[in-house]
Amino acid sequence: MTTESALDTALSQLKQAVSQLGLSENDWQTLSTPRRVLEVAVPLRRDNGNVEMYRGYRVQYSTTRGPSKGGVRFHPDIDMNETIALAMLMTWKCALTNLPYGGAKGGIAVDAGSLSLTENERLTRRYTSEILPIIGPERDIPAPDVGTDERNMAWMMDTYSVNAGFSVPGVVTGKPIVLGGSLGRTSATGDGVAIAAREALRVKGIDPHGAAVAIQGFGKVGYWGAVACEQMGMKVVAVSDVHGGVTGFQSIDQLWSHFKEHGNINVPGSEKLTNDELLHLKVDVLIPAALADAITEKSAPGIQAKIVVEGANAPTTPEGDAIMKDKGILVVPDILANAGGVIVSYFEWVQDKQNYFWSAEEVKQNLNDILMKSVREVEAMADSKKVTWREAAMMLGVGRVAEAHKLRGLYP
Ligand code: NAD
Repeated sequence: MTTESALDTALSQLKQAVSQLGLSENDWQTLSTPRRVLEVAVPLRRDNGNVEMYRGYRVQYSTTRGPSKGGVRFHPDIDMNETIALAMLMTWKCALTNLPYGGAKGGIAVDAGSLSLTENERLTRRYTSEILPIIGPERDIPAPDVGTDERNMAWMMDTYSVNAGFSVPGVVTGKPIVLGGSLGRTSATGDGVAIAAREALRVKGIDPHGAAVAIQGFGKVGYWGAVACEQMGMKVVAVSDVHGGVTGFQSIDQLWSHFKEHGNINVPGSEKLTNDELLHLKVDVLIPAALADAITEKSAPGIQAKIVVEGANAPTTPEGDAIMKDKGILVVPDILANAGGVIVSYFEWVQDKQNYFWSAEEVKQNLNDILMKSVREVEAMADSKKVTWREAAMMLGVGRVAEAHKLRGLYP
């Protein structure tokens, strides 16, 4: 993965949307510029007493439609360009789903797997302390992303609250339930991915029952997406993680039990696959749910899936996208397909503000309602303007942010 290309990809998609919407050069300048970009040094005392320095980032790409919102990634490859690209995507995603947020992203260039639990906690707390002046429930609300989870959110919430002098659950989402987290947040992104897959199958006239699905990535999005797809009657036939893939297992339950016990997905009786082989399986739905740039000019020609549902952020390069368009593959873009996470994060923030918590059923129903509304809007826009779903989703998201800019005007 080249992190430069994540920003190139995001800018090229934005350029296309600006042109399709007939917006001006001034609009392009405004929309293509991140509002606030912070780079911090994050020192960590390792368990052996050594002190190491890490780079941390927080980008608030837009605050025009509300406080900025976006995940925190712990990954060795993260840098400023990729953080800007991901924060930009969050901006269009929140606008597309009509959430009252701008977009943000953050992270630390670190391999989370190399940290002990205590090191992870110290690094998370120090990072939170470094970005503390610019976050808050009314300013910018972080959430988990690659390499972070609800434990990191609990430490971030605690660090912020200790500094505030009182408990501030609404400063992050994706928290444990007992700290003000929301029911249904853990599975939300995967639930949304499965809803997107189901709707894309409907559009293609394929019965979801028994439809074959392959998933790249078996983390929070990949695993919960697999569970939700199976609940809807689809058949997950292959999954992969950073070490490679497998096919020929009985069920996701079986795979998960093995993974929990052995830390790998090589269930006895299954057949190993490379990540490339997984991308090229003859399936109905392919779900890239790992990192950026999985579908490129190299890997796209071999894709045989009828539908690609982008669970990951920016998994497709513009070249890969063009090839899939030529092949007639229906691509449900990241800003729609993986929006379930930020939608339920929004519910969590609302519940924290009101100190009133919803049932799991209410969360699921409201998630389905918001996502289905966006799916219908994207489908209608794609049909009426004769554009791809990605172009339609971008036109809706970018168009709303551009309109908000115009209505707010320019200070001073
Ligand atoms: P995660 O850290 O929980 O899981 C990542 C998974 O990808 C792991 O199984 C890892 O082994 C696998 N992986 C890493 N490199 C790989 C490679 N080269 N080939 C195959 N598999 C590989 O992360 P996550 O939260 O599931 O996020 C995955 C993607 O979804 C990211 O792009 C993230 O930005 C996006 N996303 C996450 C959320 C969320 O709520 N967690 C919401 C929206 C979008």
